Amino acid sequence: MGITHLCFADDLLLFARGDESSIRLLHDKFSLFSEASGLKANLAKSQVYFGGVDDNTKATILSILGYEIGELPFKYLGLPLSTKRLTILQCKPLVNKITARITTWMAKCLSYAGRLQFVKAMLFGVQAYWSQLFFMPKKIIKMVEAVCRSYMWSGEATIAKKAIIAWDKVCLPKNAGGMNLLNLRIWNQVAICKLLWALSQKKDRLWITWIYTCYIKNQDIHTMDSPKQAAWMIRKIIHMRKHWQELGNIDSLIIGGKFHLATAYKRLRGAVENVAWNKLICYNIAEPKHNFILWVNLHGKLRTKDMLIKWGLSVDPLCVFCNSTMETQEHLFFDCPFTKGIWQSMLNWQQWDRRIQTWSVEWGRVQTEITWKRPRKVILRASLATVVYSIWIERNKRIFQHKITPRQNMVHQMKLSLCTRVRRNQRLFSYINSL
Ligand SMILES: [Zn+2]
Repeated sequence: MGITHLCFADDLLLFARGDESSIRLLHDKFSLFSEASGLKANLAKSQVYFGGVDDNTKATILSILGYEIGELPFKYLGLPLSTKRLTILQCKPLVNKITARITTWMAKCLSYAGRLQFVKAMLFGVQAYWSQLFFMPKKIIKMVEAVCRSYMWSGEATIAKKAIIAWDKVCLPKNAGGMNLLNLRIWNQVAICKLLWALSQKKDRLWITWIYTCYIKNQDIHTMDSPKQAAWMIRKIIHMRKHWQELGNIDSLIIGGKFHLATAYKRLRGAVENVAWNKLICYNIAEPKHNFILWVNLHGKLRTKDMLIKWGLSVDPLCVFCNSTMETQEHLFFDCPFTKGIWQSMLNWQQWDRRIQTWSVEWGRVQTEITWKRPRKVILRASLATVVYSIWIERNKRIFQHKITPRQNMVHQMKLSLCTRVRRNQRLFSYINSL
């Protein structure tokens, strides 16, 4: 198989043997074509790339063509093209791009939940473009994740602040206690498995025909030795055989003749276990920022004063609402007379007549009670998120801004927020209005 040229849009790649006579022939024919068609190559934008050519021949060829010498990897459609392993330096533009997006003023103004969405979108972009075409070096994946992680927890692009919840956990599906962020490492492996599948199917594509002609020939791709002379990326694709078994039945991954990446991703990630509070986050219609704080609290990771003191920080240990007890998660939710009163008001409003107990009993009730009619259940779940969020925000306001919102006003705002949240849902809206 002799590829002589590749065209894409207005780009042209010409291939030739690296000797003087081949280049002369090619150049003469190309010049003839230029004269006949009027289509001329832009000298300033054209370059020659050499592979295995000695310096004397290089000099002769350059003098014939008059183009500049180019160096591999060169960028094509924004991606580095290289026969060798991508270096950290070559992948750096990806990290820089992400950092640049994070440092825009808009990204800086977002809440935790907004930043989470922003990171989700960025990771999606990375997987859609880079990760499906390249085997991404582990270091780069770690860098991308570190930038996203720091931004998510601190709003800054600099990698400094410790994550409140470990990145691996954030990447888990919601029912397993995560926020369903893409695990780039696994996604990248799956994407390369897809290339291996295309290769094993001998799909009618130029790159596949080329790999078969040059390296695989009549061998079986699943048992052959890795071709040592092949480009790094090709060897990486063939190495992906080791994940083949983890993917299970490959046929069931093929939907409509296409390799289904999302299903393969789930299989390679492996089974995940539900957390006890899965329904509180999975099916919660509360505002995303309310759900986010509820999620952190369910992980027991809100930075209450007892935690800060444990880390050696010197802070006033007392609860900012009652000023009489040490601030712990248990106290804030809902041991404290002030916060207990808030949760009680919200329960009374929804006609729940019961005595409030510890945090784990309270969320446990909201999660597991199944005899409740649906709108009641939905609104109660959302209320829990809204109450936790509002208490946490009020606590921070009182500590850092010395501003106080009276309890009645807080309860009023929470009801209003829930009402606004469900205004487009007739059933929920009329339920709330009936209270
Ligand atoms: Zn208190």
